[in-house]
Order: sequence, then structure tokens, then C-alpha cells
Amino acid sequence: MELAKSTWKQVEKYLKSSTKVVIPIGSTEQHGPTGIFCTDYVIPERITIAACERTGTLVTPVISFGMSNHHLAFAGTVSLNPSTLMKVVEDVVGSLYHGGFREFLFVNGHGGNTSTLDAAFSEIREKYPDASLRAISWYKLPAVHKKAEKLFGKREGSHSTPSEISVTMHIFPGFVKKARKYEISTPDKKKVKYLPSAKEFRRLFKDGRMWSDPSLASEKHGKALFDLAVKELVKEIKDLGKE
Ligand SMILES: [Zn+2]
Repeated sequence: MELAKSTWKQVEKYLKSSTKVVIPIGSTEQHGPTGIFCTDYVIPERITIAACERTGTLVTPVISFGMSNHHLAFAGTVSLNPSTLMKVVEDVVGSLYHGGFREFLFVNGHGGNTSTLDAAFSEIREKYPDASLRAISWYKLPAVHKKAEKLFGKREGSHSTPSEISVTMHIFPGFVKKARKYEISTPDKKKVKYLPSAKEFRRLFKDGRMWSDPSLASEKHGKALFDLAVKELVKEIKDLGKE
């Protein structure tokens, strides 16, 4: 059930049988030489809508801007500072809590959001002690992670990965361009700070990839990963509030 396509009467009726709500979150940032800017938000958005359709759970519109400061040297990237994103998350949860929701699941599509989500949750838990909060990143769902490892091995990398590019190929058939084969050996992974500055990121990762080979991406792999993600997400939504 999509909040975007519901009326307030439908939401009030929903709340009589469930107080669960799922919130997709991602980022609007460069995704290497062939990846598109919506990659990190369209994937959580679409898998969440599919999983919520199966479980009859309410899903909000996606939070499409995330913490992408390290990508800012690539034009088009739009980033929220960690402090801003914390406020956004707190206000989204606070609004829904006000309406009567109590179990919140964030489905994330961007690694740069995770520590900010954790920090925001820490504040929200003190404010709303009876709220249950959980965040999962779709690419870390065990079956998805295992499949990506099997398909791409070390060429998966950390950004502009063949798995995320594959899923966007599945979502927008024929739209995302096929990449050429890429070198993945430089720079040395051990020497890179977790989140370099935007300038440093551009210097280290000239075309925007991080150790990935997006040429391995395909619609077929994208469909397999998408279906696995939806299946696992259905389980997560059913278990919501049980912990
Ligand atoms: Zn991404």
C-alpha cells in the first residue's frame, strides 16, 4: 500500500490493523561512467513497493537525497549534510509517529547514509521510547550479498557496482548503457579512508567507480537480485516489531 496513492481515510483504516510503516531512503549521486543518478534511491524505492504490495504494508515516498558529501566533486550530486539528514529522518519518523505509526523500517540504498541513520535512531529512541526502529541496506540482505559475490566476486567493488547497475537495468530496460571493461586494481583499498573528502575522492576515483567493474552488469542479473531482495524484504517486514 503506497502512501502516495492513498487517502487519509485509507490510512486511518490501515492503522486499525497495523502500525507498521516502511520508508525507502537513498541518495542522488554520481554512479560512475554509465550509472545514473537515481541508482541509490530507485532500487530501495522499487523493491520496497514490491515487498509492501505483497505484505499489505504501508510504504512512504522515498527520501531521495542522502549523505553524499564525498561525491560532490562530480556535478549533479545533491547531498544532505549528516546533521541535516538526521533532522529529516527525525521529522519523518516524528510525523508518522504523530499519526499513530509505531514500527518503522528504513530500507536503505546508500552506504553513506548508514552511520547517520544510526545516529538519528539513537536520538529518536529517547524521544519515542515505544517506537521500534530498524534500518536495512538492500545490498546487505544475506541472499542478495551472497548472489552478488557469486556473480561478480572482487569485481563487485564498493560503488557503481555491477549489482546496483544491474538492478537499474532491470528497472529501466534498455535505458542504462552497457559499460566497457574496467581496471579495478587501483587505488590500494587499504590506503583509502572510509569517507574521503570530495576533492580526494575525485583524485582517487577519477571516473567515479570504487573498485567495481560495471561492465559485468546485465538486466538478467538485475532481475535475479531484485527478486531476491523483495523476497528477503517480505520476511523483514513480517518480523518488524517482533524484536
Ligand atoms: Zn550506489
